[in-house]
Amino acid sequence: MTTPILRRTAADLAAAIRTGELTAVEVTETFLAQIDAVDDQVHAFLAVDGERALETARRVDAKREAGEPLGPLAGVPIAVKDLLSYVGLPTTAGSRILENYRPVYNATVVQRLIDNDLVILGKTNLDEFAMGSSTETSAFGPSHNPWDLDRIPGGSGGGSSAALAAFEAPLAIGTDTGGSIRQPASVTGTVGIKPTYGGTSRFGVIAMASSLDQPGPCARTVEDAALLHEVICGHDPLDSTSIDQPVPPVLEAARSGDVRGMRIGVVTELGGEGYAPGVEQRFQEAVALLQDAGAEIVEVSCPHFVYALPAYYLIMPAEVSSNLARYDGMRYGLRVGDDGANSVEQVMTLTRGQGFGEEAKRRIILGTYALSSGYYDAYYGSAQKVRTLIARDFDAAFAQCDVLVSPSTPTTAFRLGERVDDPLAMYKADLCTIPSNLAGNASASFPCGLAPEDGLPVGFQVIAPPMADDRLYRVGAALERALVQRWGGPLLDGAPLLAHSLLAPTDEEK
Ligand code: GLN
Repeated sequence: MTTPILRRTAADLAAAIRTGELTAVEVTETFLAQIDAVDDQVHAFLAVDGERALETARRVDAKREAGEPLGPLAGVPIAVKDLLSYVGLPTTAGSRILENYRPVYNATVVQRLIDNDLVILGKTNLDEFAMGSSTETSAFGPSHNPWDLDRIPGGSGGGSSAALAAFEAPLAIGTDTGGSIRQPASVTGTVGIKPTYGGTSRFGVIAMASSLDQPGPCARTVEDAALLHEVICGHDPLDSTSIDQPVPPVLEAARSGDVRGMRIGVVTELGGEGYAPGVEQRFQEAVALLQDAGAEIVEVSCPHFVYALPAYYLIMPAEVSSNLARYDGMRYGLRVGDDGANSVEQVMTLTRGQGFGEEAKRRIILGTYALSSGYYDAYYGSAQKVRTLIARDFDAAFAQCDVLVSPSTPTTAFRLGERVDDPLAMYKADLCTIPSNLAGNASASFPCGLAPEDGLPVGFQVIAPPMADDRLYRVGAALERALVQRWGGPLLDGAPLLAHSLLAPTDEEK
């Protein structure tokens, strides 16, 4: 029996389109039909552009028929987080203030998808301006975790992760400022990669915290993520922080999965109290599997990681307060109260008052305070010093080992509503992911099983030194392989493990 289109990997779909076994049009139609069937329950998408998707698919099929060469992911559908500018659709950042904003240029990442003939299905939901860990701060309502629709799909990129887990798309783009690719991947049983800072272009990505933001690939398998990584990463002269070096050999690493002799450091500070037992258990098992695969396991202490969260919640809001100053109702986006009776200042105040949600306002206020002349040294300045100490912890750790590992997030998916009124509890979802953003290194989350207590996915975080992104894929591939041997699927294609009804059963399963 052939695998149904929805369950096939992006690598497999691309190969089938290249050989003519499938057309890009039928692949695209299949995913659009799945979106139609399940997205009213999942709410992964803010906008779907079926017409343009099919147009692209037809162009790919025509190219093939004409014998033109096709790229490694040509004709494969993809969902894009609504923080990246894409001409022809609104780019909202999940905010009322940009509700009807239509960008006039494409983000570099989006342009590379287009140039490589990927089929963009639409834009996915996110927390407002990517602030959050659950999609609940989205002005357009939350997304739902396909494993349990009453639970969060992670955030801020919960739309992208939910789209993957609900088989609405085989690939997606996310952005990660403090964990928004890795934490959603963790709680939905998918793969999420935060490339080295400067590895992917931020050009055309709506800025939240410019020194931390990084777009990256989201997928259901390690190889699929690597294929997408190679398409979107690499130097961009339009982004002054883009690194002018070759992209690390991620696809080769994903296909090898050889971890023999690799030194893997388990971070002491990222575990123990506050971590769910099932998360700890699956994490320890994954470490043991990597050891069986030939890696050497060492324990590493990074003493300043305990200050990462407070440092992040000063630096990030500081940058937010500056980046979000541009939404003044004058240049683009929402404008409220422009009726001739109000002054410019009043229009700005009304626009920002009505356009921003609570979390955005909270961070603008926090950031403005941290940057104010009387408190700059005490708050922002101290946080920057902590940032340096964390970077030094990483340097010392990477002198002892090739990669660091930890759980991706302390718990499995929590319930929608559970943490909305408790920002500190919400912020803790990024306890393990934030250090990598502060230091700018490469980091990923890979599925490593289901927590026995609730049957929900657990994520395994891998961290590599800057521009050693290939090591993430090497470890991810080794883990994926070991889990396939153990369970017949690392909860990826593993339909039996997908404890939800969003994927129609195959004939064999009926
Ligand atoms: N959840 C974190 C925050 O709210 C991270 C967000 C992100 O990575 N975009 O800031």
